[in-house]
Amino acid sequence: MHDLLILGSVNRDLIVHAPRLPEPGETLRGKSFASCIGGKGANQAVAAARLGAKVALGARVGLREGGAALVAQLASEGVATHLIAQPEDETPGVALIVVGAEDGENQIVTVAGSNGTLPVDQVEALPLAGVKYLVAQQELPPASIARAFERARAAGARTVLNAAPFRPEAVSLLPLVDLLVVNALEAAALLPGEPATSEALALALRQRGPSSVLLSLGAEGLVWADAAGCRRHAARKVRAVDTVGAGDTLVGALVTALAEGQAIEAALRFAQAAAAIAVSRPGVQDAMPTRAEVIQFLE
Ligand code: ATP
Repeated sequence: MHDLLILGSVNRDLIVHAPRLPEPGETLRGKSFASCIGGKGANQAVAAARLGAKVALGARVGLREGGAALVAQLASEGVATHLIAQPEDETPGVALIVVGAEDGENQIVTVAGSNGTLPVDQVEALPLAGVKYLVAQQELPPASIARAFERARAAGARTVLNAAPFRPEAVSLLPLVDLLVVNALEAAALLPGEPATSEALALALRQRGPSSVLLSLGAEGLVWADAAGCRRHAARKVRAVDTVGAGDTLVGALVTALAEGQAIEAALRFAQAAAAIAVSRPGVQDAMPTRAEVIQFLE
């Protein structure tokens, strides 16, 4: 049985490194190409599995264009894949990523593919007995996420929304959310015109429904708001080489720790340690730490 059910996207990431980003209409000679698995659902599930969680991914991965290999990759990481629909006539999500060498700046275009067609019917069929946390991001149809949250709550699970990438539908999901995780841009988009401090934003987001709010602040750490008030947790100091995927590592690690029954302060320390290790190494899933690495880092 799985404690964590992550409902989210699976993408194939196609990454080219170029000397810089191209201008409109320009063709550049790139330096390297890599293809790997991505998508926020897959990333968070792998982060949790590496840290020892019993985690299943609810997703939709079309079998065209090598979709089966994406599912096999998740299984090899210890993610339970039996809740992944695999329609033969659909194409998986894709993210086309150009990284410009000069400053590491990037350009990304995503196509939702089968992530965008995950139907409410699939959500209705998800087994929820024993699930402690149901986690979703915003790369699936909002109606499917809403129904999953309703069902999870009715089954006694806690609901976690990582409102990334931002979509306005997040506003209507908030009453169904127990824990909201956002970065500063997403928080500001959720509450346009609200007071500018992170603490004020986190407290204001709590008023919209979630009993706990985590507002992440990159190298500055995070703000946590719950019934006991609002407090800041500094990030761990590391030399960052690639911060892409920091948020996914943070979410996967946090729900892993919470599902184990760790108290919130310990869970936040564990999650920020995992995220700090991830940003100190290149790649997204490649950079995510094992449990042993996090424990050693915390010693
Ligand atoms: P992304 O979209 O790149 O995955 P995000 O914007 O969702 O990230 P961030 O707020 O950038 O999330 O980072 C999440 C967490 O990762 C932070 O709260 C912090 O704990 C850790 N982190 C990010 N950048 C750094 C850094 N430079 N040094 C140490 N920890 C970091």
